[in-house]
Amino acid sequence: MNFRLSYLVTAFAVAALSVSAASAQKTGLKVFISVDMEGVAGVVNSDQVTMGGHDYNMARKWMTEEANAAILGALDAGATEIVVNDSHSTMRNLIAGDINPAARLITGSPKTLGMMQGIDETFDAVIFIGYHARAGSADGVLDHTYSGAAVHALKVNGRETGESELNALIAGHFNVPVVMIAGDATLCAQVKKSLGPDVVTTETKEAIGRYAAKTLVPSESQKLIRTNTAAALKKLSVFRPYKPSAPYVVEIDFLYSHQAENASLVPGVERVSARTVRYTQPDFINAFRMFRALVTLANA
Ligand SMILES: [Zn+2]
Repeated sequence: MNFRLSYLVTAFAVAALSVSAASAQKTGLKVFISVDMEGVAGVVNSDQVTMGGHDYNMARKWMTEEANAAILGALDAGATEIVVNDSHSTMRNLIAGDINPAARLITGSPKTLGMMQGIDETFDAVIFIGYHARAGSADGVLDHTYSGAAVHALKVNGRETGESELNALIAGHFNVPVVMIAGDATLCAQVKKSLGPDVVTTETKEAIGRYAAKTLVPSESQKLIRTNTAAALKKLSVFRPYKPSAPYVVEIDFLYSHQAENASLVPGVERVSARTVRYTQPDFINAFRMFRALVTLANA
């Protein structure tokens, strides 16, 4: 290779390197916020979380304010991009006109990834607001797992799984860690155990039963959510994505035997007892889609 040619090759190589470095370089802090309703401060009854319920409009305002508190916390930590996903029931609860304009809002349903619609590998961190304890928890305000009408219990790889773990697994699929979770004290204790002690939690209330709680007033809860969100995002390096090893063995214990009967119509789904089915998937997104499909079938 003559000098001129080798110079040109080197120049091209340097240019190519700097282009790939520029495209690989992460710009800014990108935050995904999934907002449910049962864990919001002040919320204790189905009447507050059901569209058309007497106190629903008040509760959706508190839900919107808690989402805004998390957005402000993310902005305090330097977030440059924030996506908020409405994750409760119809997924049309957050009041779009009142959401902080620094964020983008995902609203409506159905959505393939449900409570995690919008997540991908470009995000740096996930925040859960308004989350609740898994189905079958003593002293968990409005405890359930995805469908109160169908799911009695859910296990992934033998471990008890609620919505927090399920959605953390989806984030984990994209290598994004869950860094802050807000909800009642029972939920906070559950996620410290399942996702690890590093996850920052915000206790919005302490359940007295399924329909009663000693709660922070909404303004106090919002202050804490803002502070804790910012604090978690400022120490991002301590968090790891929640990623148990594949394959994923999913076991759904339904409320009624006919629901397991319906679910076991799907090839690959094994009925292991009157109310329980089991299946295995190598990819967690497919495992999650299968879960949603089986619950829909069970409820049909
Ligand atoms: Zn909900």
